Amino acid sequence: MHTYPDAWSVARALTPDEPVILNRPHAAARAARFFVEKFPGKPLYAVKANPSPDLLRILWDNGIVKYDVASIAEVRLARATLPEADLCFMHPVKTARAVREAYFQHGVKTFVFDTAEELEKIVEACRSDAGEAATDLRLLLRLRVSSEYAELSLASKFGCDLGDATALLQMARQHCDWLGIAFHVGSQAMSPFAYVQALDRVRAAIAEASVVIDMIDVGGGFPSIYPGMEPPPLEDYFQIIHQHFYALPIAYNAELWCEPGRALCAEYSSLIVRVEKRRGDELYINDGAYGALYDAAHVGWRFPLRALEDDLRDPEEEFAFYGPTCDDADYMRGPFPLPGDIQAGDYIEIGMLGAYGAAMKTGFNGFGDAEQVIVDDEPMASLYRGDRERPASDNVVSLR
Ligand SMILES: *Cc1c(COP(=O)(O)O)cnc(C)c1O
Repeated sequence: MHTYPDAWSVARALTPDEPVILNRPHAAARAARFFVEKFPGKPLYAVKANPSPDLLRILWDNGIVKYDVASIAEVRLARATLPEADLCFMHPVKTARAVREAYFQHGVKTFVFDTAEELEKIVEACRSDAGEAATDLRLLLRLRVSSEYAELSLASKFGCDLGDATALLQMARQHCDWLGIAFHVGSQAMSPFAYVQALDRVRAAIAEASVVIDMIDVGGGFPSIYPGMEPPPLEDYFQIIHQHFYALPIAYNAELWCEPGRALCAEYSSLIVRVEKRRGDELYINDGAYGALYDAAHVGWRFPLRALEDDLRDPEEEFAFYGPTCDDADYMRGPFPLPGDIQAGDYIEIGMLGAYGAAMKTGFNGFGDAEQVIVDDEPMASLYRGDRERPASDNVVSLR
């Protein structure tokens, strides 16, 4: 991959017709080191947030040794890229064939379940040809928790109810020497209190089941910074998780895990797009709902941006974007502030797209190609530089 100082230089050097993804290896490395050094347990990277092999290698080189994979394709990709990584299969609905291939061919020992059927499936799929049960399984019960503090819910699809947890934990304990509980508070959790609430649920599940628990996995949900979404420092999240983890009735040597996706890779990439047409306060750009701007279109997410032109003089105005496909849904309402005299042919850099951005691009309608280059400058925002002021609008709960 070619390296440039910044987006402006890329736009000048390539005058690209297609969107260009700009990667910042130093930003991903810094995020990885932050989690490795400061999270009071073991951080896993949730591969779905951005499965780029280059990114996986950067995270590995900076101390992330465990990976949360959710499909057999992610298992194969992560294993091919990182032969020694500890891969954990964290999707509660798997096929028996996927479990078997993961266990026997890729050395995956850690599997999540949220029903008796899934538990049974895992145990059966990992039997040897002679019919012997696996003795090295590490099983995790996914508990349903509230998503009320998150910008994107993950509460309705997966996770068992508290009332079913007792039977499932007791059942699973008979099949493994290492049993954990996992949850996910939803993505972009804007308050650390999300984890307090979830850990209270975990406490209730353990108390009721009275089985030994070897591991607690607080999942993903750690936020990044976007316009209108200024989270408290991640240290607050870590501290409050640590505190409530230690108060749980678990094995004295129990482990604490987390599975950040967004927080490890949001700062990794930005995107150069070009304005192809202007209609009043609407800009037709060459990426959109079927590309890296899925969240901007589907959940009205706003991203930081800047025009990459030197000749724009007017004060900023608010714009909406249309993407390149022929579909009306390829629309991003923003609002996106840009100089009022921006016009067709001008380039824009859209920041903080390393998570669920670069990974979401499809080839729909013939639009999907994007060159990737490396840039040396800083991401448009960072949680890891140590120069950030605590946001004034405080979502912070008191750390009793
Ligand atoms: C998506 C997902 C993650 C990552 O979530 P982020 O909000 O990106 O941190 C972690 N664990 C599981 C099980 C997931 O589905």
